[in-house]
Amino acid sequence: MQYPEPIAQLIDSYMKLPGIGQKTATRLAFFTIDMNGDDVTRFAKSLISAKRDLHFCSICGNITESDPCDICRIRRVTRARSWWSNRPRTSW
Ligand SMILES: [Zn+2]
Repeated sequence: MQYPEPIAQLIDSYMKLPGIGQKTATRLAFFTIDMNGDDVTRFAKSLISAKRDLHFCSICGNITESDPCDICRIRRVTRARSWWSNRPRTSW
């Protein structure tokens, strides 16, 4: 079936998601068109924000807004403080 271009593009976009075939993508596209405008805007913004603001931590691989993630940053500081407090001491 030939759909108007905006619907066809939406169907193609949904089909890029894992496990979503033509039939489900078409159903989701028509559901999206029927959604409240504010909900569609919030959905679109959340997609853009997730892609723009989230990264994988270069140390542990968790999803994070900053690299390294908070857990790895705290571990790094804790390790540095531990090294500093346990460093060999020399008397001059
Ligand atoms: Zn991490």
